[in-house]
Amino acid sequence: MKRSTGQDRSITAKWRPATRAVRAGTWRSEQGETSEAMFLTSGYSYDDAATAAGRFAGELPGMTYSRTQNPSVQMLEDRIAMMEGAEACRTQASGMAAMTAVLLCQLSAGDHLVAARALFGPCRWVIDNVLARFGIETTLVDSRDNSAWEAAIRPNTKVFFLETPANPTMDIADLEFICGLARAHGITSVVDNAFCTSALQRPLEFGADVVAYSATKLMDGQGRVLAGAVCGSDAFINGKLLPFQRNTGPVLAPFNAWVVLKGLETLELRAQRQSENALKVGQFLESRVPRILHPGLPSHPQYELASKQMDSGGTIFSMILDGGREQAWALLDALELIDISNNIGDSRSLMCHPATTTHHSVGPEGREAMGVYEGMVRMNVGLEDPDDLIEDLDQALAKAGL
Ligand SMILES: *Cc1c(COP(=O)(O)O)cnc(C)c1O
Repeated sequence: MKRSTGQDRSITAKWRPATRAVRAGTWRSEQGETSEAMFLTSGYSYDDAATAAGRFAGELPGMTYSRTQNPSVQMLEDRIAMMEGAEACRTQASGMAAMTAVLLCQLSAGDHLVAARALFGPCRWVIDNVLARFGIETTLVDSRDNSAWEAAIRPNTKVFFLETPANPTMDIADLEFICGLARAHGITSVVDNAFCTSALQRPLEFGADVVAYSATKLMDGQGRVLAGAVCGSDAFINGKLLPFQRNTGPVLAPFNAWVVLKGLETLELRAQRQSENALKVGQFLESRVPRILHPGLPSHPQYELASKQMDSGGTIFSMILDGGREQAWALLDALELIDISNNIGDSRSLMCHPATTTHHSVGPEGREAMGVYEGMVRMNVGLEDPDDLIEDLDQALAKAGL
């Protein structure tokens, strides 16, 4: 049975991003199904003992066990790699499984990590707790300050870890400078690209070595499953990450892989429309709130850098209200359409108070240093009609005294 051309890199290399998002990685069974099949199997059987031995030795093609390979999961991995422009990709059970695996697979006791201070809360927890417990030291820097990255380098620095835009401060890190600096020092740069995905920003084009994802966010995009992904060179993904994850087991379930495959088909459409909606809602809010941070608005302090790296401003922004937690909560509690929820990238509009949810575990001092203020609220703009979102915000802001 003919495999889909989606597995042939000499063909997919010619495809434009929207085509890859729909077709890259597709692997057809002998039924010739058009939509990707869901292979809910933990193991595989072999025609004879020699075939089993050959597959385990890596001498024969074919799968052995779903902790290492599964056809549905592999389709997703191939599609993400081709969309990202990476040689290889492996997926994990969640974004945090991806972030933990990408760090632990390459860091050892005595190594040094430089990480952005403004990171997703659990990423900070892994650095402060797990890595520290195993003798891996970290220097935290203001990701906007190029000279801080340079000054933090030590002879034993192995990895740079950052996200841009950062959650929820919307700090933009200069990918070309930071990843170039890492490369010049033999340091591996790892960029968490969850806020954007390849539809809006492709860190490999700016010199990043590894791109890591929570695929729970824009890739699924409809709030259904947790998933993670890591992309990079074949040597890194299959040489370093794969041995770690096939033996420790934080792998993605085939059902969840299939759901994300369906999400990717509409990723570009959703990312573009949600970005447009976010800009429209953001423009309305500029005249109503003291401060709004959206990379697509010229009022963002790093608007020019954001415009260089990102195709558009993305689906997320943060606002800072003068009335602290009380006013932030009053705004959330007055919403009629927008949900109070900490997810992002969803097709539904969602709003949260990071200081008491996503960044609760960082503690008050850590939050202050990162710029996560009590009066900050973060919004993910979905696919609803932006005029309905503006009307909901208009009435909720009035109730919160704005
Ligand atoms: C959500 C998120 C994660 C963690 O992903 P999960 O899928 O929730 O485990 C990591 N980094 C960033 C930037 C995120 O937004």
